[in-house]
Amino acid sequence: MTDQTPSAPITQDVLTIPRKLPETGRTNIVGLTRPQLQEALIAAGTPERQARMRVGQVWQWVYHWGVRDFAAMTNLAKDYRALLAEHFEIVLPEIVTRQISQDGTRKYLVRIAGGHEVEVVYIPEEGRGTLCISSQVGCTLTCSFCHTGTQKLVRNLTPAEIVGQLMLARDDLGEWPVQGAPKDETRLVSNIVLMGMGEPLYNFENVRDAMKVVMDGEGLSLSRRRITLSTSGVVPEIARTAQEIGCLLAVSFHATTDEVRDRLVPINKRWNIATLLEALRDYPRLTNSERITFEYVMLDGVNDTDADARRLVKLIQGIPAKINLIPFNEWPGAPYRRSSPERIRAFADIIYKAGYASPIRTPRGEDIMAACGQLKSATERGRKTRAQIEAEAS
Ligand code: SF4
Repeated sequence: MTDQTPSAPITQDVLTIPRKLPETGRTNIVGLTRPQLQEALIAAGTPERQARMRVGQVWQWVYHWGVRDFAAMTNLAKDYRALLAEHFEIVLPEIVTRQISQDGTRKYLVRIAGGHEVEVVYIPEEGRGTLCISSQVGCTLTCSFCHTGTQKLVRNLTPAEIVGQLMLARDDLGEWPVQGAPKDETRLVSNIVLMGMGEPLYNFENVRDAMKVVMDGEGLSLSRRRITLSTSGVVPEIARTAQEIGCLLAVSFHATTDEVRDRLVPINKRWNIATLLEALRDYPRLTNSERITFEYVMLDGVNDTDADARRLVKLIQGIPAKINLIPFNEWPGAPYRRSSPERIRAFADIIYKAGYASPIRTPRGEDIMAACGQLKSATERGRKTRAQIEAEAS
């Protein structure tokens, strides 16, 4: 492993645009970690000796009951509710469009501060419901099989905008508990995957803080084992993911030679397959019950030969792993075609016989362009010039 600093990645100029805060002057509670909320409550006039208790109360209202109006927080004194309303707000990204696929998949186009838009996808399955959330507007990287990769990075999402995606999906699914109603343990959103738009490890701190809020047992309480973060291979941040987030890890692997991976996942030019696998072997939370998921998009005539399958098995030897085979989901102008079903099955057989679970991912929501690698926010369609971006940032 050569260079440790995750500095400018394999793409042109990248600008992280500061978030244009809504001009209310109030602080959005959503996305603040407990220490940050405590600090903000004290700064707003909460007596220090009460602050910890107040954090607990507000936290429950916002993240357990899904309340958005301070006046409804009935276990708080009226004047304290007034203080909260004066200094704080509870703001989620705004749903611009909501599409429901014939297979039940839901895709939300949501607007965030600055008028930017990102996509969020909900995939209902038997006994579970997965929410695929975004971490950037556009992406830092340019993976050639990915629709998002054709969209320049506009900016990183804030913790509020990441947590907000889960909360707005719960609103849409009507999943907040009702006071006084019998306790219902079923979760419509039972799992989160950070596989939407963007490379989450190039927005590490915001993703970490957001997941801390999501995993907190007093509120949204999604267990860390129900959260999977997918990276294209930002090696220096991989171990940190285990230490500071603790969620499950998936890797956008997609090729078995550096020559092919350089083309499909250009970050490979910075940290190649050998360097990436070394970091995965050292992943602090690696166990048989917490395997790393290797994502492998099946591209016709590019990475789908029997030799590729055998090489893949050899490369990951010794790593507790499962392999997700993703039939390529085409998008307008895509330079690739999906491998044939027979080719995908033959590939899966080789891996399966080598002892790896190799589920073939069923494309979901294709009719609404919600399948893996199809996300792109129409409003940000064209790549912007630096001048345009700087004009917007100023
Ligand atoms: S696959 Fe992920 S990292 Fe690569 S361009 Fe798409 S969103 Fe970005």
